[in-house]
Amino acid sequence: MSESARCAEDGCDAAVAVRIYVPWAEDREVCVAHARVLARRDGVVTEPIEDADAEWP
Ligand SMILES: [Zn+2]
Repeated sequence: MSESARCAEDGCDAAVAVRIYVPWAEDREVCVAHARVLARRDGVVTEPIEDADAEWP
């Protein structure tokens, strides 16, 4: 596996673990911590990234 992808959120360089579908913004790949926060919002769908370094949930 090549270099791990990094969280798409500003200022966060944690490894991505989850692809997140956000109705009001671009789909992006984020770390576990950011996925937990975003997943509480209505309409957000999370999908684990199978080869990610981190585990979700
Ligand atoms: Zn993050």
